[in-house]
Amino acid sequence: MDYQNQYLSKSGYECLLFDVDDTLYPFSSGLSTQCTKNITEYMIQYLGIDATNASEMCLKLYKDYGTTMSGLRAIGYDFDDDHYHSLVHGRLPYQNLKPDPVLRNLLHSIPIRKVIFSNADEAHVAKVLSILGLEDCFESVICFETLNPTHKSNITDDARNSGEDGNDSALLESPIICKPFKIAFEEAFKIANINPEKTLFFDDSARNLQTAIRMGLHTMVVGSSYRAKGVDYALESIHNIREALPELWETLEKSEEVLYSREAAIETIVRA
Ligand SMILES: [Mg+2]
Repeated sequence: MDYQNQYLSKSGYECLLFDVDDTLYPFSSGLSTQCTKNITEYMIQYLGIDATNASEMCLKLYKDYGTTMSGLRAIGYDFDDDHYHSLVHGRLPYQNLKPDPVLRNLLHSIPIRKVIFSNADEAHVAKVLSILGLEDCFESVICFETLNPTHKSNITDDARNSGEDGNDSALLESPIICKPFKIAFEEAFKIANINPEKTLFFDDSARNLQTAIRMGLHTMVVGSSYRAKGVDYALESIHNIREALPELWETLEKSEEVLYSREAAIETIVRA
C-alpha cells in the first residue's frame, strides 16, 4: 500500500525501519540463543575450529566484526553463504514463533511506509515474517543478500572502508556488509530511498542503534526499557508501540480530507 500518497503523518516520520530478530518477536522465543549454538556448531563441524575455543571465538568475532559470519570471512575462512545460512538459520526452532495478529493490525494501521533492515538472509526473514503473519506489512526488505550481492561492483573499497573516519572505530574491516557498519546503513538508505532524519529505526541491538544515531536516524530500542544515551524511545515489547508513540497514528487534517474525498469518489463509482 502506498501510504505516502494517502496520508501525511503528524509525527513527521516518512518511514519506519525495522530490524527482525528480537525486535518483531521477543528474545524469549529462543531463536537467538539457538542461532548462536548453530553458529558455534558450524565453526566446529565445517570450518575445523577447535571445539574448546569456538564459543569464545564466536562471541569475539561478533563483537569485533558486527556479526560472527562477517568476522569469519574477515579472518580468512572461506565458506558458501547459502550453506552457512541454511545450517545456522534453517535449523532454528521456528515452531516457537506464532502468528501475531495484534502486531499485524498495529503495523497496518500506522499510515507510514515500513521497511525491513536485517542482517539475516532472505529465507530466514521471509520465514519469520510469514509465521508472524506480517509478510504484507512492509514495503520492502533489506537483508543479507541485498547488502551483499554476488557482484558488488557498485560498492567501492573506499565506500566499504568508510568506517575509517572513526565512526566504526570499534569494528574491524570485513568483506561482509552488515549492521552496525555505517556502509550498511548508507546502502539501506539508497536502496529504500530513506531520509534518515525523517525515519524511525527499531532495533534490539545497542550497537546498531548507536550507528543509527550517528547516521541521523531517530531510534527506538525494542526489548528493553533502558534507553541508552542518544536513543529516543524504548519499548519492552513492540506491542506497546501505540502507547509509546500515539502520534504515529495521527495524520494531518489535509490528507484526511484528501482520503475522505477519495473514499467518497470510490463509493460513488461502486454505487454507480
Ligand atoms: Mg535483532
